[in-house]
Amino acid sequence: MSQNFNAANLARENVKEMTPYLSARRLGGKGDVWLNANEYPIAPEYQFNQQNLNRYPECQPVDVILNYAAYADVAPEQVLVCRGADEAIELLIRTFCEPGKDAVMFCPPTYGMYSVSAEAFGVEQKKIATLPNWSLNVDAIRENLTNTKLVYICSPNNPTGNIIDNQELVDVLELTAGRALVVVDEAYIEFCPQYSVTSWLEKYPNLVILRTLSKAFALAGLRCGFAIASAEIIEMLLKVIAPYPLSTPVAMIAAQALNKEGIAEMQRRVAMVTENRIALSEALKDFSIVEKVYPSETNYILVHFTDGNKVFKALWDQGIILRDQGKQPGLTNCLRITIGTETENTRVIEAIAALC
Ligand SMILES: *Cc1c(COP(=O)(O)O)cnc(C)c1O
Repeated sequence: MSQNFNAANLARENVKEMTPYLSARRLGGKGDVWLNANEYPIAPEYQFNQQNLNRYPECQPVDVILNYAAYADVAPEQVLVCRGADEAIELLIRTFCEPGKDAVMFCPPTYGMYSVSAEAFGVEQKKIATLPNWSLNVDAIRENLTNTKLVYICSPNNPTGNIIDNQELVDVLELTAGRALVVVDEAYIEFCPQYSVTSWLEKYPNLVILRTLSKAFALAGLRCGFAIASAEIIEMLLKVIAPYPLSTPVAMIAAQALNKEGIAEMQRRVAMVTENRIALSEALKDFSIVEKVYPSETNYILVHFTDGNKVFKALWDQGIILRDQGKQPGLTNCLRITIGTETENTRVIEAIAALC
């Protein structure tokens, strides 16, 4: 006998209301030039030759932790490795936020997963819009801290590309001292390492830093990210994380990517991307349909067009897939363009030239 079954009726109330994160891969499109997910445009090659897949992996693979701690210049006890920075965003909520009671705070326009993870766990969201120049509204942050356990600050910020000012970060760290964690998302820090705040960990025990191998390390498909924080915070997160967050092949490749040679290769990629970013920004500035190319410290640029939709659709039809940011507060007609290869960037420039 078939039952009258409706999965949605069984789901938690907040899940019923949810719209899933529209990831680059979910958006679809028949592109051959993928510039919508801030990936590196060329695949690095890795060897996988381990024959011990009958065994469970280590929860925190020692090689990966030691290599990352050395790379980030922190102690191994201050590093947690997980299934992408996205898992760390969620793990922090699961570890520190009581659903229906605590809140997380973040500052739009910014990365979308802070909101998605909070929603999935039924945790209140305090959205404190940045000021028009994308600096933090520290006064509004101060006024909204009641119940707030986590403040996510993305620097450099996705999608705007700007660094958050040190003094603003210090202000927020001091306002939240003893009552909330400040999570600085450094997913793009390899493109501007001089701005990392890892050296502040000693002074600010409520600081957490998120990192990833998905951007400058060219390994978005690997799903490997990190949280860096005090040993006490890492210990709390390790209570909640899955027993085997990384598969054996992932751990093996991550350890390779983080050895001396892997880091040198990453730095060569960063130099190439930076050169291409400057060239693309310069080329786009002069077009009549471009209002503004925002400065960026990352592997993407945010471009304000006279008609963002029109540019997005015209390039989409030619197989060039960009990310529309027009729905974010203050970003009407803005598209985010990942820096591709020189050839891909030329395709973008020619397609935009044809619209002028
Ligand atoms: C890409 C990105 C992430 C997610 O990184 P993964 O390690 O691939 O999960 C986190 N934060 C920001 C700001 C990002 O742009």
